[in-house]
Amino acid sequence: MTAYRSVTEAQQCILSHLPMMGSEAVVLHDSLGRVLACDVDANRNHPPYDVSAMDGYAVRFADIEAATAAAPVRLTVVDDIRAGAMPKIKVMQGKAARIMTGAPVPAGADTVIRVEDTNGDGDHVAILLPPKQGVNIRPLGENLRNGEVVLSKGTEITPGVLAILAMVKQKEVAVFARPRVAILSTGDELESMDEPVDENKIPDANSHALYAQCKSLGITPTLLGIAHDNPIELCAKLAEGLKYDVLLASGGVSVGHHDFMRPMLDALGITMHFWRVAMRPGHPLAFGTSKDGTAVFGLPGNPVASMVCFEQFVAPACRSMMGHEQLFRRTIPARLGHDMKDRAGRAHFVRVTLSRDEHGYTATSTGAQGSGVLLSMAMADGFMLIPVESEGIKAGDQVTVQLLQGTDFQEKAFYI
Ligand code: AMP
Ligand code: MG
Repeated sequence: MTAYRSVTEAQQCILSHLPMMGSEAVVLHDSLGRVLACDVDANRNHPPYDVSAMDGYAVRFADIEAATAAAPVRLTVVDDIRAGAMPKIKVMQGKAARIMTGAPVPAGADTVIRVEDTNGDGDHVAILLPPKQGVNIRPLGENLRNGEVVLSKGTEITPGVLAILAMVKQKEVAVFARPRVAILSTGDELESMDEPVDENKIPDANSHALYAQCKSLGITPTLLGIAHDNPIELCAKLAEGLKYDVLLASGGVSVGHHDFMRPMLDALGITMHFWRVAMRPGHPLAFGTSKDGTAVFGLPGNPVASMVCFEQFVAPACRSMMGHEQLFRRTIPARLGHDMKDRAGRAHFVRVTLSRDEHGYTATSTGAQGSGVLLSMAMADGFMLIPVESEGIKAGDQVTVQLLQGTDFQEKAFYI
């Protein structure tokens, strides 16, 4: 076990030790955001026959290919076909059928002329413009082909995917289960939400920050409360957490005199894969697995460090367990708005806000970057990633910013 893992090594180590969740059936509307646990076949053709894509006239192309505005082709209208009705009359030479969008194309016809390109008087229609043969017809099975796989295992269910599931009548959908996650805060100095304010204590932020971060992944975690820096109490609470798929325990991970996390995880038989990651904030980060497959994260006590570690390690782990293929938060290129000194040796995640002009994004530090300064985390649009070897970056330099939740919306509409 090397002393410090790089962020990438730590992520790979975690992903290689995770169990995959089984599948469960959920009702269609509850499947949004989940991942399909098996392929889905189409149980019908859609459209079920060739249908018109326009309101207009179904014609035989051979009849109208010479039509011009100056010398229109006149056809006799023999039918009027609405969506939902079946055509009764075959279109013969010199004839046409009035047809609505979505209505089946009648036998004999091979082309639909838009109503805008015609002059109709009820019994007759003048075609003013020859289109290409076959246009304005949606062919049978264009959307779905009976018996073919329409959605494959591993697909994330977006509103568009859900619409297809509805079309193939999946009232219930097989998706990967979500991991059950337990959250534990540790430290004698911590005060829970339900305790009265004690000026000498520190309110427990991590339980709630981690709770919210889990929720952003679609997981409702269980809060195990606070364990004191006392081996027996810590051991009992950790043992409770090992009944879950994922245990997030924050604080007590460093090497301080009262940091009991490490010996207690050992005592509980957890196989530890690493203890430290070369990053700032967040270097005391531990990861292990229990015999029963629980993934155990020892997160740093400092609230910002704990949140950064969640985004880099816990979120990809949970997403992987739930069957997602895209595990990591999206990154974008930006320019730094100001000089920034740094120390080489660790990857640095700097909280930044983003602004945008015609040249692209500009990243600006949210201010004091101490790992306990939660306000600068609360205001952040994302993390600017400063690589391990960097000793600083200058205003105008290109940087990479990892977007945080909520940054997929913008103030102004974008119209092209
Ligand atoms: P530790 O990792 O236990 O040494 O804690 C590092 C720092 O984070 C200390 O200043 C703790 O008071 C603080 N801290 C630990 N746990 C929490 C928590 N759940 N909420 C807020 N601050 C915490
Ligand atoms: Mg502590």
